Amino acid sequence: MSINSRPRSEALYQEALQHIVGGVNSPSRSFKAVGGGAPVFMKRAEGAYFWDVDGNRYVDYLAAYGPIIAGHAHPHITEALTRAAANGTLYGTPTELEIELARKLKSSIPSLDKVRFVNSGTEAVMTTIRVARAYTGRNKIIKFAGCYHGHSDLVLVAAGSGPSTLGIPDSAGIPISIAQEVITVPFNDLDGLKLALERYGDDVAAVMVEPIVGNFGMVMPKPGFLEGLCRMTRDAGALVIYDEVISAFRFHYGSAQTFHEFADQAAIEPDLTALGKIIGGGLPIGAYGGRKTIMEQVAPLGPAYQAGTMAGNPASVATGIACLEVLEQPGVYEQMDALAARLTEGLEQSAERHGIPLTVNRIRGSFSTHFCSHPVTNYDEAQDTDGEQFAAFFRHMLDQGVCLAPSKYEAWFLTVAHTEEDIAFTLEAADRAFKVMA
Ligand code: PMP
Repeated sequence: MSINSRPRSEALYQEALQHIVGGVNSPSRSFKAVGGGAPVFMKRAEGAYFWDVDGNRYVDYLAAYGPIIAGHAHPHITEALTRAAANGTLYGTPTELEIELARKLKSSIPSLDKVRFVNSGTEAVMTTIRVARAYTGRNKIIKFAGCYHGHSDLVLVAAGSGPSTLGIPDSAGIPISIAQEVITVPFNDLDGLKLALERYGDDVAAVMVEPIVGNFGMVMPKPGFLEGLCRMTRDAGALVIYDEVISAFRFHYGSAQTFHEFADQAAIEPDLTALGKIIGGGLPIGAYGGRKTIMEQVAPLGPAYQAGTMAGNPASVATGIACLEVLEQPGVYEQMDALAARLTEGLEQSAERHGIPLTVNRIRGSFSTHFCSHPVTNYDEAQDTDGEQFAAFFRHMLDQGVCLAPSKYEAWFLTVAHTEEDIAFTLEAADRAFKVMA
């Protein structure tokens, strides 16, 4: 199968450019990083598939950048949404369902004594920082190069190359004074963190990290990294914040902080956690939570203000509960794991056969593909990969009906809906792509 033209997507893109800035409502949807041109306009999605406005079908590995782990239009989630909509979409009052989702999160992530629902991962992260500052009375934040934490001012700071580089803004419109409250350290580099804490420790409110990285490929913390991070951060009197917007419920029924591959769970527990994506089952949501004494900083109990007209809306909460119910079923993670293993083994063999250097980082049902021959354990290594090769691969796959994220840094996500046939179809497409690229 080959899809070499998408006239309707082209036409809609020209139209969108007239009305929507850049034609897209999130820059990651544009094809800028893969050579430009019209992104594909999708019309419908079901299970593991998209259909575009020209009638072409695609196997989807984007999963909407994470949330669609149950597959598109899962009947259980659709039913929950329909029921919620029929009961009214927004109340501005508390509801019982919010308690149920909070209970579900708490029972699988023990570091959450109390939670609060918001509308996006960005909001969740932004608020954890405010709460950490309120609790510690300090201002600075340490983050890790290449970890993305949403688009609020403080975390949208360029990845400095060396340890303890003071941040420069990654976006226009962010005052340098704000960026200077952020210190960036390479991921997996405890020496770098130590240096940063020695230099700025008394002013540091929190160390923020993706405990399993999903934003410069999928990258595991090296053994001991999270333990060391938690210990050193607490010794400095700062809080540990985990951004689990991608990682929660992605690899198992729980979060990265409860992932069984980590030996000592207590030693890697954060003080605050930011959540999003999967916990809304495909509708807008975010959440943050943590230890009771810290969360009691938040209004109406404490002096740190955070609010939201849409927060905890009944539809998102209902689809979130339904999505977690799908994930609670026995065998779902094992199935995604097994399919991803087959897919990555096939990709590696195929790339090797055609002489294309490829590094694959797989963590259970998610993985990243890096066109390079070195390991990828931090942002510098992820940057030092062949973007043109990735762009060519991306386009060859798209033209054969396989949809990946249009960026060399994004992951492939398996869903509950993917099948063996989808994997075989994808591997055949990849083999043809590598052959042309070789
Ligand atoms: N944190 C992480 C780890 C993310 O990957 C993202 C989004 N990709 C965010 C925060 C921001 O979430 P949202 O796009 O829902 O604001």
